[in-house]
Amino acid sequence: MRRLGILGRSMGVGVVTKRYPYEPIEVPDGFRGKPVIDGDKCVGCGACANVCPPNAIEIFDEGGYRIVRLYIGKCIFCGRCSDICPENAISLSREFELSTTSTNDLYQEVRLSMVKCKECGRYFTTYRLLAKAMKEVPPEERESMLICPECKARISAHLASFARW
Ligand code: SF4
Ligand code: SF4
Repeated sequence: MRRLGILGRSMGVGVVTKRYPYEPIEVPDGFRGKPVIDGDKCVGCGACANVCPPNAIEIFDEGGYRIVRLYIGKCIFCGRCSDICPENAISLSREFELSTTSTNDLYQEVRLSMVKCKECGRYFTTYRLLAKAMKEVPPEERESMLICPECKARISAHLASFARW
């Protein structure tokens, strides 16, 4: 008798399951799905890689390019990269169907052109980062920004040694 009562109550509730995956499913607002990097906005600052708990984002320089590489296979969808990005270049999408037969599908990569130091010729920052920094300083100081931090330190030490004479 008691069982019949439970059955009756549950039938009164109606259908509570979804036909997913036979029908698409709506995710709620604020859902944290696959992170996506906008290659047009990213400046290559590295902030996202610094805060990513499982090191799913790596940043490295190669052949005159700074590479920002995201590996979804390690991502825990915490959203810290999106919170920290100063350019709003990385966001968590609503996409959650991420299974694949190829590991290559789990990588996203942004390649950013880099600037050479006018003293030593070494690539040291991205054009986008430099352009952003140049907007913050007066025009007469912009020339010095084309020199890498190591050369600046070397030149400063050199000048300081002259000052002691
Ligand atoms: S995605 Fe944002 S935080 Fe990450 S390197 Fe690009 S600009 Fe920096
Ligand atoms: S969502 Fe979290 S784990 Fe995934 S890439 Fe961003 S910081 Fe890393």
